[in-house]
Amino acid sequence: MTLDAIQRSLKERGVRLTRQRQILLGLIDKTGAHLDAERLYELAKEKDPKINRVTVYRTLKMLKTGGLVDELDLMHYGGDQHYYETRLKQEHAHAICLRCGRVEEFFGEPLQRLRKQIESHFGFQVLLARTEVGGYCAHCQTLRARELEEVRLLPIEPPGPPARRRGGALRARRT
Ligand SMILES: [Zn+2]
Ligand SMILES: [Zn+2]
Repeated sequence: MTLDAIQRSLKERGVRLTRQRQILLGLIDKTGAHLDAERLYELAKEKDPKINRVTVYRTLKMLKTGGLVDELDLMHYGGDQHYYETRLKQEHAHAICLRCGRVEEFFGEPLQRLRKQIESHFGFQVLLARTEVGGYCAHCQTLRARELEEVRLLPIEPPGPPARRRGGALRARRT
């Protein structure tokens, strides 16, 4: 489906694609990124200063229930935040770096295979699939290795303070 096709399908269902809705749909489609509602609101505001937050949230909900955008939580990297992307893209899996939040998209035949296997294994009719993988990106792996090395090089504290403290407390009580 192209953006034009989306607009036509909305029209057929009697959904009026107002200028503000068009702006949002265009933003989600063009950036190709996974933006949260707040960021989309900021970007939309640059295009139309009159747009308000309520409109943005309401439009996102409409686009989601209309099956035009996907709402993702991306392994809850950003807490309760949700991210939006267009359904125009070919199905893909998301690999999320749990340290920096970088999102990679994996398009590939294994996903189609997984779908088919699930269908034949359970006699299931798959309508949508969402695959998320969490881990560390190459950059963060390097940073983490360096951090772990720094921790390893920290001077080790002399053993025993907790035991001594306990003893001290006992002694204090006795006197
Ligand atoms: Zn990272
Ligand atoms: Zn994606």
